[in-house]
Amino acid sequence: MIDRAQLLSRINSPQRVAVLGAVRSGLAATRLLRRLGVEVFVSDRATGKKAETIAASLDQIGVEYELGEHSNKIFDGTDLIISSPGIDQRSALFEMAKALSIPIWTELELAWRLHPGKTIAITGTNGKSTVTTWIGECFRCAKVPHVVAGNIGTAFSEYVLDLTEAHWAVLEVSSFQLAWIDRFAPEVAVILNLTPDHLDRYNSVEEYYQSKFAIVQNQQSHQALIRNEDDDLVREVFTKANSRIFGFSINHPLERGVWMGQDSIYHRDSEETATPVVNVNQIKLLGRHNLANACAVIAAAACAELPEDSIVEAITTFKGLEHRLQMIPSTDGLQWVNDSKATTPDSARVALLSFPNPVIWLAGGYDKGMDFSPLCKLASKRVKCVIAFGAAGEKVANTFADFAPVHRVGGMRDAMVLAKELATRGDAVLLSPMCASFDEFNDYEDRGRKFVAYVEELQDE
Ligand code: ADP
Repeated sequence: MIDRAQLLSRINSPQRVAVLGAVRSGLAATRLLRRLGVEVFVSDRATGKKAETIAASLDQIGVEYELGEHSNKIFDGTDLIISSPGIDQRSALFEMAKALSIPIWTELELAWRLHPGKTIAITGTNGKSTVTTWIGECFRCAKVPHVVAGNIGTAFSEYVLDLTEAHWAVLEVSSFQLAWIDRFAPEVAVILNLTPDHLDRYNSVEEYYQSKFAIVQNQQSHQALIRNEDDDLVREVFTKANSRIFGFSINHPLERGVWMGQDSIYHRDSEETATPVVNVNQIKLLGRHNLANACAVIAAAACAELPEDSIVEAITTFKGLEHRLQMIPSTDGLQWVNDSKATTPDSARVALLSFPNPVIWLAGGYDKGMDFSPLCKLASKRVKCVIAFGAAGEKVANTFADFAPVHRVGGMRDAMVLAKELATRGDAVLLSPMCASFDEFNDYEDRGRKFVAYVEELQDE
């Protein structure tokens, strides 16, 4: 059993830590530091109802805090700052901290330093939650102790003090959590893909790409980087890693890594011959992007030296996450698909590419100001009709009017009722809205759950 002083030394034995931002990871970091007996000062700019909720949580933990502003109290006697991923790295606060030589970390660095076991970290623009959960399934099937944490649900800090050397941490990591990395070096890093995102938080798209590089910046030669060989940007940004590179590809064989051949997914480490791991038909998830995800999962699980039969079990039984191309059971002969998580044209593109026959496409919701027109050509080939709904309905209808039959309705349920009228047996009805949900729902999960409930209702009509 490691004692408190030893644990504290791993985080440089701070006297007073300022935690900036008191939502999920900030609260988790605060609880962790208090469990270690460290003095914590929490600062969050929230006001009103949000501030009341935060105050209640912080009172329960029993720490000093300020709400409504980040004042200079942050720096008083502070020897470490833990910043929420929600705070812009370019904030003047950090200039001040640097001038005072106060180290700045995110909660990821803090928790990782205290983790007695090994770590797999997954990043990329799309597919992080799917791949993180799927890798977690490999560990579950192999009965190897592990936690799945990070961006995906529970902050790593909530678990870390209860883990042993035998535990693997499977972490979904966002670019914002990688912002203030110091020594963070996972045994296995996975980079799935890169497309432009978060341009509100970076000065340029190159800066966003470089932020992802932090996942490998401290890795050594005994550690592994799993890299998407089909993504030119990924290969370009991740050329200089010190770790051993394992590729994955759905297009071509690799000297070392995991790839998709005609019918099977193959794995090769250092040996000459490749081993087939699973037949592609055994994978339950829709779409080629999920075959790429499966390759990444197999590569990560192989690097963690999980037994092959457990990997095969996890790869062939995993049904995917809710709200991401989720097939909804029905008795009406239609294939209802909930892809409510697809809130951008890019993710809807992936969805439209996942079906062999034209689909009835339900799109619309709260308009985030995105341009839908890059999907026009694809829609002309891949949809039977577009049913446009919600606040963005008119924009959706106008965008696709010249490329596919378009219907404009009120809300999502109206869209589903019309879809059922227009559909013939065997048709897929795809909710892949390209838009946020706030015009009609609390969030994408609420929208997805209502979609599922309405599918059930529509079976009786
Ligand atoms: P993230 O956690 O990165 O947001 P998710 O697994 O939640 O990723 O999936 C988000 C969206 O991206 C879904 O609409 C999903 O269908 C799509 N997606 C999943 N994997 C990939 C991939 N490898 N490439 C492109 N899009 C993907």
